[in-house]
Amino acid sequence: MNIEIIAVGTELLGSRFADTNSVWLTERLEDLGLQPIRRTIVGDQGPGLETSLRLALSSGGLVLVGGGLGPTGDDKTREATAAALNRGLVFREDVMAAIEERFRRFGWPLTEPNRRQAWVVEGAEVLANPLGTAPGQWLEAEGRTIILLPGPPHELKGMFQAQVLPRLARLGRRHLARRLIRTTGLGESAVEARIEGLYPDDPDRILTVLASPGRVDLRIAASSSVSPERAGALADELTSRLKARLGSAVYAESEIELGEVVIGLLRRDGTTLSVAESCTGGLVSHRLTDVPGSSLVFLGGYVAYADAAKVRDLGIAPSLLESRGAVSQEVVEAMASGARLRTGSDWALALSGIAGPGGGTPEKPVGLVHIALAGPAGLIAERHVFSGRREAVKFQAGQRALDLLRRRLSGLD
Ligand code: ATP
Ligand code: MG
Repeated sequence: MNIEIIAVGTELLGSRFADTNSVWLTERLEDLGLQPIRRTIVGDQGPGLETSLRLALSSGGLVLVGGGLGPTGDDKTREATAAALNRGLVFREDVMAAIEERFRRFGWPLTEPNRRQAWVVEGAEVLANPLGTAPGQWLEAEGRTIILLPGPPHELKGMFQAQVLPRLARLGRRHLARRLIRTTGLGESAVEARIEGLYPDDPDRILTVLASPGRVDLRIAASSSVSPERAGALADELTSRLKARLGSAVYAESEIELGEVVIGLLRRDGTTLSVAESCTGGLVSHRLTDVPGSSLVFLGGYVAYADAAKVRDLGIAPSLLESRGAVSQEVVEAMASGARLRTGSDWALALSGIAGPGGGTPEKPVGLVHIALAGPAGLIAERHVFSGRREAVKFQAGQRALDLLRRRLSGLD
């Protein structure tokens, strides 16, 4: 069944008000194992709603419309829906009576515009609105269903929960299973290349790939009308095929960050870590200390930004800084060794680079970061050039450093 959501309201097209109703409706649909194929926002004025409704009707299924049922002249949902269905509007005495009753109860004076809310599309089933005046409407036309809901979030939610959800659930409840695969170290196109041919073509499974700096997430959703176990099996089958292709780039299968994975591995081994940071300015230490229980394994971090701090806090030889420059393999290796020696940790990570936007040269461009890991068996160093703005370079450098340690601790590479 194709499901669409249309949010009506000119304010939702501006930058100040987000269409939170549609997100909320999507969450409720997901609970039923349903996913909309399209979400649209249209303004109160103009032909937007009618054309969007006609388009939605042409793809069949179910259309949820939120907003524009108010008493004022700019609330056009009733008229636009009637037009899209080639139907008229009818005045419903019972709806008018309910509105009058509500106004009497609150002691409000009834005004002429309130009468507008008693008009409904021909053939509509009225959905009562105990939290407001505008009733909702349930419309069926040639196998398609249009549901009109009021715009104020608490009214929309109340009406959806009480009157729409039970009927949708009867239409066909589906069981939903979700899986997540988190990867690092591969760009989006590298991930795409690896998973080629694995995009599901059955309607019961959806794979979405979401890239951000330093990370590519793969989200798998599977649904089944049979049982939760069947949905789970469908999701697991795809997940394991994806994981086989992605190999050691996979670092988590839940919403956790790389810092948590690394802390977990250190705790497993009973080993300790320290960090010496230049360009990342403490970001790696911050990400590690975000993890509850990190104090058991994380001994400390140095933010050695200036050359003088590298000399004073980590014991880097001034002559090395002079000859190689602060952003060099030799200096990060010395930083990692210095942090390991001074804290007595088993492992030490060090980073030095050029986060930009200024400071780059042809040999040492913006985005260049040297990373070193000192450990019981010696030193490993890597050189990377990351793209993006300053924060993105810092994040990716930290991600790569944490991944270097993850791989080491996991016995990969
Ligand atoms: P009603 O059917 O009650 O007239 P409406 O959408 O016409 O609904 P508005 O006055 O436009 O009424 O909206 C009422 C309130 O609900 C406003 O604060 C508006 O910003 C908010 N609202 C409407 N639609 C949404 C939405 N999709 N997401 C979040 N808030 C919304
Ligand atoms: Mg509105």
